[in-house]
Amino acid sequence: MQINKELCVDCGLCMNRCPVSAIRRVEKKVQIDFDECVECGVCLRSGVCPKGAIYQQELTYPRSVRSLMSDVLTIAPESGISGRGTEEMKTNEVTGRFPDGTIGIAVELGRPCYGARLCDAEKIAMAVAAQGVEFEPCNPVTTMMSDPKTGKFKEELLQEKVLSAIVEMTVPYERAEAILRTIYQTAETLDCFLSLDICSKADKAGNLPHREIVEKLGVWCSLNGKTNVGLGRPLYQAE
Ligand code: SF4
Ligand code: SF4
Repeated sequence: MQINKELCVDCGLCMNRCPVSAIRRVEKKVQIDFDECVECGVCLRSGVCPKGAIYQQELTYPRSVRSLMSDVLTIAPESGISGRGTEEMKTNEVTGRFPDGTIGIAVELGRPCYGARLCDAEKIAMAVAAQGVEFEPCNPVTTMMSDPKTGKFKEELLQEKVLSAIVEMTVPYERAEAILRTIYQTAETLDCFLSLDICSKADKAGNLPHREIVEKLGVWCSLNGKTNVGLGRPLYQAE
């Protein structure tokens, strides 16, 4: 996103519309930090600018992935839906993807106010790929990998910043605990927040297979609820 300097009157009304604080006042001039902007489109669509000074420049690859992962109106060709994941995300199992004996894991990097660089998504992907996971082919993040077997991302994408990116995978039950431990360890090395979504099909008795594993890791688990565990390093230290 950009601001037309000829039209802008530096009123600052657009500044609090940006979810990643990329619109800043520098020496009394309001400007968009191009490296921090995730191309979510919120500032433009909010209609807040009284001068019509905010405009969308042409988005070419690799910058276009920012919009793909951050703008709720951008449709990802891989998933056919807008947004950063697939319809199975957040404990919704809609296509029967998780057969008995498997667990769905999604690692969501970034949050409003912070965002994430794709190099952090690569760290998670490479760590779990080393344990032999298969990434979800319909998730747009998987197509950003140059090698889905190793989780390596395309080099030109590593510094792109997005509102959030979701690394999504299905794993055999018996390897789930080790993979979740790897995710926890790798989270310590990230420069962003991380949320963990875990999904499995209830057995005939109504038990969730993943519950035992999650509890072993010391995480409280809500039955039929969204488990959204904040991990990673906060950007500030509490006093
Ligand atoms: S497009 Fe989104 S991230 Fe970029 S300046 Fe506007 S609100 Fe901020
Ligand atoms: S709202 Fe429009 S005129 Fe005001 S600072 Fe933002 S871009 Fe400039």
